[in-house]
Amino acid sequence: MKIRIRLHGRGGQGVKTAGRIISTACFLEGHCAEDSPMYGPERRGAPVLSFVRVSDGEPLEERGYIEHPDALVLLDSSSVSRSSPFYGLRTDGLVIINAPLLAPKFAFPSVAFDVSSAALRVLKKDSVSAGAAALACKALGLTSIESLSEAVRMEMNEIGLRPELIERNVELARECFSSVPTVKSFVHAHDPSPTDSNDESSEKLVEIPQMVGLQPIAAIIATGNSRLNETGLWRLTTPRIDYSKCTKCIVCFVYCPDSCITLEPDLTPHIQYENCKGCMICATECPLHAISEERAVPA
Ligand code: SF4
Ligand code: SF4
Repeated sequence: MKIRIRLHGRGGQGVKTAGRIISTACFLEGHCAEDSPMYGPERRGAPVLSFVRVSDGEPLEERGYIEHPDALVLLDSSSVSRSSPFYGLRTDGLVIINAPLLAPKFAFPSVAFDVSSAALRVLKKDSVSAGAAALACKALGLTSIESLSEAVRMEMNEIGLRPELIERNVELARECFSSVPTVKSFVHAHDPSPTDSNDESSEKLVEIPQMVGLQPIAAIIATGNSRLNETGLWRLTTPRIDYSKCTKCIVCFVYCPDSCITLEPDLTPHIQYENCKGCMICATECPLHAISEERAVPA
C-alpha cells in the first residue's frame, strides 16, 4: 500500500498542519509516512499546498511535489471553482472536501463535511487543519481515532497552542472523524498487493519533478496591475463597517496593507471587496471596534 495525498487550501487555514497531523497519525499507527508543504506563497489567503505519502512499511523514497495523487483534501471549497485542484488526480482517486457552502458534484468519488462550521462552533475560528486531517484519516482508512487524537495533540503542541485550545482541536478532529465513512472501495484498491512492488515510481529514489500544472510564480512584467489581481478571491473572512460606530478617523484606511479602503470627500471609508483579502488588520486597528468579521461567501 502506498497512498499519495495532496492538500489544497488557503494561507491561514492550516494546510501544512493538516498534512503534518495526517502524517504523524499514520506514523503512530505503524505506517511509514512523510509530509512536506509547498514553500513560497505563505500569505494569508493565498493558495497553499502540502503533500503526504503513506506506506504500510515499504520505505518511502520519493520526495517533492505529488503530481498524481491518490487522494485530494480540499480545505477550501472556493478552490474548486478558482483553481485546478483536480490536476493529476488518478482516475480511481478520492476527493475529500470541507464543503461548507456547496454540495460538491465531481467526476470523482468524494467525501464532504462542513468542517468550517464545526470549527467556528468548537474553536470560534475557521481553522480547519485538525478537522480536515480527521476526514482524510477516516475516509482513506488510514488510522484509528486514538492515533489521530494523539497526532493532533503532538502537532498542536509543536506550534505552541495552549492546552485548552489543543483539546478543542482534538474535539473537532473527533467530531469530523465520526461524521464521515471510510470509503471501502478506496481502501480495497490500495490494499497491499504483489503488483505494488512493480510500481515504477517507487524505483526512482529521489526524483523532484517540477509541478507543471500548479506553477506558484507569476510573471509580472508591467507596472500598475495590482488592481487587476483580485485578491478578494482569497478572502476567507469579510470585514464589515458599522457606520453607526465609525467616527471617520481613517485609521483603517492608513493600515490596510492592500490599499483597498477608499475615502469619500467627507472621509467615510469604503472597503473595495474585489481586492480585500480578509486579513482583518483594519478590524484590529479600528479604535472604535466599528469593523466586524463575517464569514466570506464564495461566489
Ligand atoms: S478605523 Fe474604524 S472608526 Fe476609523 S474610519 Fe475606519 S471604521 Fe471608521
Ligand atoms: S481585511 Fe481590512 S485591512 Fe485587510 S485587506 Fe481587507 S480592508 Fe484591507
